[in-house]
Amino acid sequence: MEVRLAEHMGMCFGVRDAIELALRLTRQGPLTILGDLVHNPDVVARMEAAGAARAQAPDEVQTRAVLLTAHGTAQQVKLRLRDEGRQVHDAACPLVKRVHLALVKLVSEGRHPVIVGQENHVEVRGLTGDLKESTVILHEADVEKLAGKRRLGVVAQTTQPLERVEALVELIRRRFPEADVAFIDTVCQPTKDRQEAMRRLVEQSEVIVVVGGPDSNNSRKLTEFARSRGRTAYQVARASELRPEWFDGVSVVGLTAGTSTPEDVIEEVRAWLAAH
Ligand code: SF4
Repeated sequence: MEVRLAEHMGMCFGVRDAIELALRLTRQGPLTILGDLVHNPDVVARMEAAGAARAQAPDEVQTRAVLLTAHGTAQQVKLRLRDEGRQVHDAACPLVKRVHLALVKLVSEGRHPVIVGQENHVEVRGLTGDLKESTVILHEADVEKLAGKRRLGVVAQTTQPLERVEALVELIRRRFPEADVAFIDTVCQPTKDRQEAMRRLVEQSEVIVVVGGPDSNNSRKLTEFARSRGRTAYQVARASELRPEWFDGVSVVGLTAGTSTPEDVIEEVRAWLAAH
């Protein structure tokens, strides 16, 4: 079986930098990571092995030093932690910060902020956390929530498929022709590169394997994309989840990975596929 590799896959610079910062900080003393540093179970386990405690809410933070994740955090959470006397380290990716700034600009223009993304995703919660009001949309039906708004400012969660985002913006404009709609494309470049590489990989492969944790939004999107193009696609967090019967009669398998997947996990999966 031939294994084709996607041209862009695996960790983006935002995730890599956040992990490096976390490891550096754990060497300096006790540290709590607020939330999952990245949505990959192996990376989370490595952080725990390095001695970093984890908290899911600010109330649970026990150490003086606290690290905020690459997904970005609402300003009010940072201020609260600083008020409690904590040393706050922020690993927010600069491309997530760009989304926060885009929202500030759109709100300053008197627009109602609209985020295309998953309402309960940590990045989106970081974005909405500082806004007085906002609307999160993901599906066509969600567009109805914008009825009656005259000025709208739309951004996207960084890992949303650009096609979906553009289709929703187009739908908003058609559904509310009287509204003044501004759109800032905030899907990050590493996500765009991976989506484009995925398009090419799907054309060249019979079956697709996506390496990514079950909570990784961009891994899930890559898997959904392959399936939407009629390919059988499997998402696995590590090589031990692969099943030989998935590849019976398959001559070309395409391999890609989400932006939070470490190199060694991808290599492990590649080696397993090549050996079968
Ligand atoms: Fe930054 Fe994009 Fe990576 Fe998120 S997926 S950490 S926004 S580069």
